[in-house]
Amino acid sequence: MFKYQQIIFDADNTLFDFDQAEAAALVATLAHFKMPRPPGLIDFYRQMNVGLWQQLEARTINIEQLKQRRAEQLFDFVGQQADIKTFSLHYLDELAKQQILLPGVADTLAHLTPHCEMAIITNGLARVQKPRFANSSIQDHFGALVISEELGVAKPNPEIFAHTCDLMGWEDPAKVLMVGDNYTCDVQGAVDFGMRSCWFNLRQIKHNHSDHHYEIKQFDQLLTHI
Ligand SMILES: [Mg+2]
Repeated sequence: MFKYQQIIFDADNTLFDFDQAEAAALVATLAHFKMPRPPGLIDFYRQMNVGLWQQLEARTINIEQLKQRRAEQLFDFVGQQADIKTFSLHYLDELAKQQILLPGVADTLAHLTPHCEMAIITNGLARVQKPRFANSSIQDHFGALVISEELGVAKPNPEIFAHTCDLMGWEDPAKVLMVGDNYTCDVQGAVDFGMRSCWFNLRQIKHNHSDHHYEIKQFDQLLTHI
């Protein structure tokens, strides 16, 4: 019998390989708009995007400002302009096509699914998450896909965890395990709501964090804690 039978997963860089998806979508979009691809582009974009998402999580900018600033800074870097809205929508649609799972995800979920009820909470964008999930090989494993943009509340706000438990009919947060790569959103958010947490330290960073209950560095290590 598994210790946890109610599990919530983050999506990007927990189940899906977001780094690869981001790079592939960016390259495809630049090609579509016949824009150059200067050296260092992917690293520049990744760093810039992480910074903007941190500002979004800290609520110093909103999602529209994030999209706007991301495009502006990208156009400055490549030295060519395009219509921001058209470019952003094309990029998001390219991103939605990327369904690369991280190593071990498919097998681990298949192993868990007969024993566990599972849900996803993502702070990603609905235009990306919904089609990607609908076309993904793993969708049958999950009872709910909760998207912060649709709910109007994002991780680490306890409301999004409460909403997901309600949807799944789970009454006791202490029985729920949250698995994710983002320490603030996934681990601290879940712990603040009274859940157990498994931090996916994907980048294998050294740290002094102590709020999580479990730490894994590869997805399939999850099975040793369940
Ligand atoms: Mg993530």
